[in-house]
Amino acid sequence: MALGIRGRKTHAVALEEGAVPGSPRCPACGEPLFVWLKTEGWGPREDQIVDRCENCGLAVSRDTVPDADAAIGELLGDADPRAEEVVFRAANSASLQAWLGAENWAALRPGDGAIKPTPRAIELLLAKAGMEPRRTRYLAAAGMASMWQTLLNLLTFHRDFAAEAASGRLGPGTGRGRAAFSMDVVVTVLAAIPTAGLAVLFEGAAVLARRGGVVEVTASR
Ligand SMILES: [Zn+2]
Repeated sequence: MALGIRGRKTHAVALEEGAVPGSPRCPACGEPLFVWLKTEGWGPREDQIVDRCENCGLAVSRDTVPDADAAIGELLGDADPRAEEVVFRAANSASLQAWLGAENWAALRPGDGAIKPTPRAIELLLAKAGMEPRRTRYLAAAGMASMWQTLLNLLTFHRDFAAEAASGRLGPGTGRGRAAFSMDVVVTVLAAIPTAGLAVLFEGAAVLARRGGVVEVTASR
């Protein structure tokens, strides 16, 4: 049956229809995950694919997609999951800094945990553990530090340059070469203060708009 333009049926494409069969699922809501970004370059955080859930916004490294229980465990961290009330912090992937930074977002550094949730994803994960969020605060100081590193990452050849160089993992003879290393030293020194000012400005506005980069959630049963 041929339908003309007038008779054409339109419907929203379900997320399911756009997914590759067998693709990983969001630990918070169960919808398929889609590629958000790919990092390339130097160092341990490079060459990773980061997926994002189009439904709840949770972001996760493709290599380490946890199941729901593991995601809840990671979210709660050291907090006792049997406690009546828990308080925990998380990087917010529905933040201004995640959007600005994308693959340069400071929260994607290795060792910071596999999942980057959103307040919505946190609510869904907590529900699976029989809990609900009572209070969500956007932490200005922690968010500004993360925004600052994100802005610096946009300018330097090596992400997390100062921390990597100070730790000894990155030197003039490693990474992207001597010239890039020297350039990053100059850029970091010259840009440190102006970008700190911008970080305060941007993150201050983001916190007011509830788009801060770091959330602290108080949850209870
Ligand atoms: Zn989801």
